[in-house]
This record gives sequence, C-alpha cells and structure tokens, in this order.
Amino acid sequence: MTRRSRRIKILATLGPASQDPEVVEALYRAGADVFRINMSHASHDMMRERVATIRALEEKVDRPIGILVDLQGPKLRVGLFAKGAEELRKGDFFTVDDDPTPGDSRRVRLPHPEILESLRPGHRLLIDDGKVQLRVQSHSERHAECVIEVAGKISNKKGVSLPDTLLPTSAMTPKDRADLAAALDENIDWVALSFVQRPEDVIEVKKIAGKRANVMAKIEKPQAIDALDAILAVCDGIMVARGDLGVEMPVERVPGLQKTMTRKARALGKPVVVATQMLESMITSPVPTRAEVSDVANAVFEGADAVMLSAESASGQYPLEAVAMMNRIAETVEAEEVYPSLLLAQRPPPEATGADAIAEATRDVADVLGAKVICAWTSSGATGLRIARERPASSILALTPIVEVARRLALTWGVHPVVTDDARDERDMADRACRHAYIDGFAGVGQRVLVVAGVPFGTPGSTNNLRIVVVGTDGGTV
Ligand code: PGA
Ligand code: MN
Repeated sequence: MTRRSRRIKILATLGPASQDPEVVEALYRAGADVFRINMSHASHDMMRERVATIRALEEKVDRPIGILVDLQGPKLRVGLFAKGAEELRKGDFFTVDDDPTPGDSRRVRLPHPEILESLRPGHRLLIDDGKVQLRVQSHSERHAECVIEVAGKISNKKGVSLPDTLLPTSAMTPKDRADLAAALDENIDWVALSFVQRPEDVIEVKKIAGKRANVMAKIEKPQAIDALDAILAVCDGIMVARGDLGVEMPVERVPGLQKTMTRKARALGKPVVVATQMLESMITSPVPTRAEVSDVANAVFEGADAVMLSAESASGQYPLEAVAMMNRIAETVEAEEVYPSLLLAQRPPPEATGADAIAEATRDVADVLGAKVICAWTSSGATGLRIARERPASSILALTPIVEVARRLALTWGVHPVVTDDARDERDMADRACRHAYIDGFAGVGQRVLVVAGVPFGTPGSTNNLRIVVVGTDGGTV
C-alpha cells in the first residue's frame, strides 16, 4: 500500500511490545505514519536500534516515515522511605526537605534543591499522578511544611507535579541533553520536549537542534497554557500531552484546552498531536470502550494533525489491533457527512502572504473542479504546511527533493510526502506531479490535478504558481 485513505496521521510509540522489525512493519502497514521513541524508557542503544529498524523499513516500503524522539524532561520525584512506603492521613502535616535520611510518616526528601527553594505557601504538590495531594503551609530555603489535603499511600521515588510553581530550571536535564545529542546524531525528524513552561525552553532546544530536527513542545503544564501563544510562535509543532496535563490541571479542563490548542496550532500551520489514553483499555483488551472511540473521533473532527498511541502500542497486549482500530476510526469519521462542515467551522483566515493566497485559491479551485489531489512542490515543506492548513477536501501530495522534509511532513494532516528530484522546468513540474499522483493512486487518466509551485524553482518562499493539468495516458500530463 503506498497511500493512506485518511487525512489525520497516526503516531505510534515503540516499546517492548513492538521492537521486532516484523512488528514495526506490521504497525506501519496497519497505519502508523510516524514512530515515537520515548527516552523515559529507552537507552541510547535501544534508541539507535529502533531508528535503524525504522530506516530499514522505510527503505523496504519506499515511503518516508517520521521518527519522533521524546525527551523525558524534568520529571520530579520524592526520595526514599525507611519502610519503602507510608500511608498519609488527611489533615496531618508532612514535610519535604533536603535531608537524605530515609523518610517516614512525617517527612521525606525532595532531592531537587532549586525546586525546594521555589515552593511558596499555598502551592500544591501532587504525588503519584495526583493520588496524594499536599499544600505548602510554611516554607524555608531547605524545607516546606505541608498539610495533607488528599490522603493516600506515598512510596519510594514517586513522581511529583507542581502545578503552581514556576520551576527555575530549564526544561532540559543533563539526561535530556545527552539524549538529544544522541538522537540528533541518528538524524531523527522530530524531538519532543516534556514539561515546557516558557518559550525559552523551546528556543534552547531549537538552538541545539538547528536544522537537524523539528522541535515539538509538549503542553502539559499550566505555565505552558499561560504562555501558549509565545510557545506556539517558536516551536515547530505541539503535543496535547493529556496525561500530565490532566494531573497538573483539573482533568475537566483537558477537553476544552485540547480544542483551543488544535485551533491555535492549525491557525499557525504547525502540526498538533493529540496524545495519551486514546485507546487506553486496549493495553489489555482487543476492543476499545465506546468512550475511547469517541475520543479518537473527536480529535479527527477537530482536524488534529495526528493522534498518538503510547502504552497501547509500546507495551500493551494488542499493539497491532490498537493501530488498526485508530486507522478504522479515522477513515470512518472522515467519511461522515458532518465532517467537512466541522473542519470548515474551524478554518483560519489566510495570512497576507503569497503562499497563503495561493493556498486558499488552490483549495477553492479544487472544490469547484472536484479535483482529487493537490500536488505541491516544496523544498522547505512550508508550501505543504500552508495547503494543509486549509484542510482541503482533496488529497495533498507534497513533492520534495529533501528526504528529511518528507519525513517531517509525515506528521502533517492530509500530506502524502514524496521524495523526488527538483523539477527541471515547468513542463517537468506538471509531468512529474501527474506521474506521482497517478502511481500513488490519487488520480486516474483524464482526471484533473492541481500543481502548486514557486517559479522560478529553487527560491524558497516563492510560492506563486497554480496550474490545472490533466493526467495523460502515460501517467504524465496531456
Ligand atoms: P508522556 O507525555 O507520555 O511522556 O508523559 C505525554 C503526556 O503526558 O500525556
Ligand atoms: Mn507527559
């Protein structure tokens, strides 16, 4: 199969349940367009092995495949307990401090001195995905005395979220820096940064990555929501990281924030991924719940660029079934009669640029003619992104001479990336667009194809040309 019959993309996390090359290939064939390697769980050697598996698969299927490496970020954890765990009672006091002595029912170490310093009275500490909640009463540089607001068990090295505290650290830990360098050496396509708080966090990674990889900001902290526009301005894409977001913010805010994020990202023409718990029950069951199906469908109706699987494909019992199910939901939802009107309702106006004027016009022409496919010549990927931003009813074929651009576009809504030499002249530009549209099954002989390009060639950002051509009997243009 060379083409997908849906517009939204599927991002599947690889893990112990999906490390064999045969499984990775099966996941690709079932619908995975981009693979995620999660550095919270992968060593550098495992990461390299997975990259090699995906690149070998790419060669075999002769289609560009995206690779996203997800950096763990500053996941905070409490220290150790003398008994391994303690039951905390509501209303009691509990202290976090910098004392390495194992903890008890009254205190434990928080082994992050700069974080201890940033705590203030009133701030919440959410432990173990919010199962236990503390609120700071009084505070000094080296300890914070808290009252237990939600009781429960606390044990060794449980994670801590601080939704009220602006953390003074960069979003990158020393481990993240090492992971990032190793990933960039493997020529991966996207790097995702966890627990982004400010635009500077993203800028720092972008400086290191340079042109080698796109940078995705994972939006999972209230501080990132407050700075969303500024973060969106500097990143290449975002992830609605609903797992941590639903811990750091009231869980009932997640759906609305998801809608806000999908809209804002689309308005900027930057890919947005909806992530976490999409088909959670499929970790242990071959069929999803109705609510999960509805959740995936909702992301499709919102026009998100991609939906993501985490444990479902990385460590669950039914990785293949989960990807196949996501694929089926996406195909079915996109064929619903209400789908185009929902996409249209969220349509952002074009910006006052030549590229956007052409993108909007292309969409209109495609609608009037019922053209099945828009072929965009794009060297940086920008023209592909701006046409995808219009969410046209026609397929989008992005033709680029740069394999890295094609791989990055694998994450973008509706874009079928193709690697091909730059067009020699205008005749070749039309001819080759038709041929690829024909070969990959987007247009038949005698059908109209739209071709978008910047003329003369080789001037990035010069999108200025829209042509209507017809596929000839040799697959080229007539
Ligand atoms: P994670 O990110 O799986 O790396 O925590 C996604 C999320 O928080 O939803
Ligand atoms: Mn997260």
